[in-house]
Amino acid sequence: MSLTKKILIALVLGVMAGIGLSLLPSDIFSVVDTYVLNPVGEIFLNLIMMIVIPIVFVSVVLGTTGLGDPAKLGKIGIRTIGFYLCTTAVALVIGLGVGLILEPGQAGTFDTENATYEEEAVPPIMDTFINIIPENPIEAMSTGNMLQIIAFAVFIGIALARLGDKTSGILRLFEQANEILIFLVNGIMRTAPYGAFALIASAIGDAGLNALGSMLMYMVAVILALFIHGAITYSLAIKGLGKASPLKFYKLFFPAMSVAFSTSSSSATLPVSMKMAQERLGVKKSISSFVQPLGATINMDGTAIMQAVATVFIAQVYAEPLGISQMLMVILTATLASIGTAGVPGVGLIMLAMVLKQVGLPVDGIALIIGVDRLLDMLRTSLNITGDAACAYIISEGDKRNEKEKAGETA
Ligand code: ASP
Repeated sequence: MSLTKKILIALVLGVMAGIGLSLLPSDIFSVVDTYVLNPVGEIFLNLIMMIVIPIVFVSVVLGTTGLGDPAKLGKIGIRTIGFYLCTTAVALVIGLGVGLILEPGQAGTFDTENATYEEEAVPPIMDTFINIIPENPIEAMSTGNMLQIIAFAVFIGIALARLGDKTSGILRLFEQANEILIFLVNGIMRTAPYGAFALIASAIGDAGLNALGSMLMYMVAVILALFIHGAITYSLAIKGLGKASPLKFYKLFFPAMSVAFSTSSSSATLPVSMKMAQERLGVKKSISSFVQPLGATINMDGTAIMQAVATVFIAQVYAEPLGISQMLMVILTATLASIGTAGVPGVGLIMLAMVLKQVGLPVDGIALIIGVDRLLDMLRTSLNITGDAACAYIISEGDKRNEKEKAGETA
């Protein structure tokens, strides 16, 4: 049976087991979770997390060296960031639109009196940019600061490309390290169906379905907006800009989406999403290894959608409707918030506080949606990494077309 099929079955079984477990008495769930689901899920998660930092470092070095010319890297960088910003803005418009049409937050239906949310420190966004060049690259790796790791790797890659033969030994070392990491990813992916099953069953069993109740409409709104963005925005971009088939893209990229669904972490899914893009979609390694790690760090369209719908929802619950200028403010701050969101579970919700404050809505409103956020995190993370892969695919297809045209001209 193919890996995709196995993962699909694990996904369905995981959802069913999770729903079944949530209906059982909580002490039975807690025993199954503590002794079976949690250990299996955590071991799988640790296995992939173990190789994220080495793989990002090694592949960004190799990708930059492969491009050879820093000007080409600059061009790809500008296209990538342009794509990321535009699609995030579109995602926010869709999120706001769906929230306004479906009206998930009827005033008076929710207990706002007892809603309190203890705010967590939101990292200042500008610091992320100012500190992009690491003072200490080893510390950047040990703390998993992805942007700093990418920046350091780009410098090493440029140096390797410039020094050519002089450093061919080190280049070979990186190439061989890459072989080792790919070998490990292939092995880890074989365990993905089991890990995904355990993580999904545990998350759904824990969140339970009884929490849904009055939050159902909010969930429907977020899911609908995520679906519209995936099915329309990305498909149009793949077709229009990449001149490729969106259906083929989704079919071949699916295993990565399901790993994102089960882990709720863009960072943890990176090794798998890069593998799927390079091996199945044929995205050039030099492009994928730069565009996808960057995207897993700064491009979060799914998170942006949740933040837009949540803002509209909270505005409706507290009967403080948003005006046009406030909505524009949501688009601006939520774009920044999604850039600053780390690719790990639940951070999108912490960053939502920044958006709410900016438009003058009560941060306590977050307490209303926290209960269902774990489930939505699974879906939005799948969309987050899909946006990164779509961008890599589009840029790579464009690059291939350019090369063909050039070859045609010289022939
Ligand atoms: N879990 C998301 C991710 O890793 C971030 C978030 O929205 O909380 O992409």
